[in-house]
Amino acid sequence: WKSIPQGSPPLPSSTEPARDPDEDVYTKFFMNHCCYDAIPTSSKLLIFDTTLQVKKAFFALVANGVRAAPLWDNRQKCFVGMLTITDFINILHRYYKSPMVQIYELEEHKIETWREVYLQYSITSLISITPDSSLFDAIYSLLKNKIHRLPVIDPESGNVLHILTHKRILKFLHIFGSMIPKPRFLQKRIEEVEIGTFKKIATVQETATVYDALSIFVERRVSALPVVNEQGKVVALYSRFDVINLAAQKNYNNLNMTMREAIEGRSCCVEGVLKCYPHETLETIINRIAEAEVHRLVLVDEEDTVKGIVSLSDLLQALVLTPAGIDALFS
Ligand code: ADP
Ligand code: ADP
Ligand code: AMP
Repeated sequence: WKSIPQGSPPLPSSTEPARDPDEDVYTKFFMNHCCYDAIPTSSKLLIFDTTLQVKKAFFALVANGVRAAPLWDNRQKCFVGMLTITDFINILHRYYKSPMVQIYELEEHKIETWREVYLQYSITSLISITPDSSLFDAIYSLLKNKIHRLPVIDPESGNVLHILTHKRILKFLHIFGSMIPKPRFLQKRIEEVEIGTFKKIATVQETATVYDALSIFVERRVSALPVVNEQGKVVALYSRFDVINLAAQKNYNNLNMTMREAIEGRSCCVEGVLKCYPHETLETIINRIAEAEVHRLVLVDEEDTVKGIVSLSDLLQALVLTPAGIDALFS
């Protein structure tokens, strides 16, 4: 018996149908490149001490145009977790009362105070990766742990070098993947390969409140909501990232504003909704999502009715993990 290294494709059995020889090209590509390869030459990194007030931390994310920061505990002298926009959403959702009442916990809590409350329900330590680990391992960690930020930490110095995301990994493939022969399955239609989520799509009405949207984020744990009008047509997209606008505009005390108002008030966002259609090929979809630098496309029919979501998580699962014999990790 030979032990199979973790993440390697299972050995084919003689009774299995012949496999597409192209099937695992992306799996191999990511197994052969390390996290260090995907780190940009220059990028901004914020680190927060856990004694910082949560409100100041979110303002610092806004002021620096950064989406997340590792948390440093000066007593333990180590990184203990991450602060992301999801934490901002969870704080607002948990403590918001009404437009007339200031959110005391947001004004007064330190990051460590918030973590004491929140850690009872969530990840309790930092999930990180070393620069010489493969990008395959990074994808596995992001999907298995259902997180969107993976710090790359140098084991020698203990320094955070970069925060890897699905977007960065797909961009890496988009730039360097052109050096490998194009697999034939890229010409298949999205309806054929069924990559994405097609049932029970979480959406929000444009007349619903921001608080309603936050509730859906908390309950469904999805990264974005297609915003639909009364006819059920998609008119916008509201992602977790957009919630940071409430900190930028300091209007987080009024979560009773409508989605329409929140969307119109966004300071910077993608114009329109980035969509895809069931008959479009996987190649078209990968190019569109990579070039637009968004985390997902909304799958619609000719009437713009929402039919599904094709997220970077779905693409990385199908192109990289499934061919290695690792079934969907985030359903
Ligand atoms: P977002 O999509 O808002 O950037 P994530 O989905 O990555 O956020 O985060 C979900 C939750 O997991 C948050 O509470 C965040 O603090 C936590 N988290 C995110 N990344 C890590 C990590 N690498 N290690 C530990 N906890 C993390
Ligand atoms: P992150 O980098 O945190 O994953 P997202 O890609 O979710 O961020 O969102 C970044 C911005 O792009 C947000 O303003 C969001 O509304 C917008 N956006 C993301 N996906 C789409 C889409 N499919 N259509 C239109 N706008 C989108
Ligand atoms: P993400 O959080 O975007 O990385 O995606 C994780 C999983 O949730 C993927 O399978 C997505 O297709 C799915 N997903 C993302 N947004 C939605 C949504 N609004 N409704 C239902 N599923 C979603």
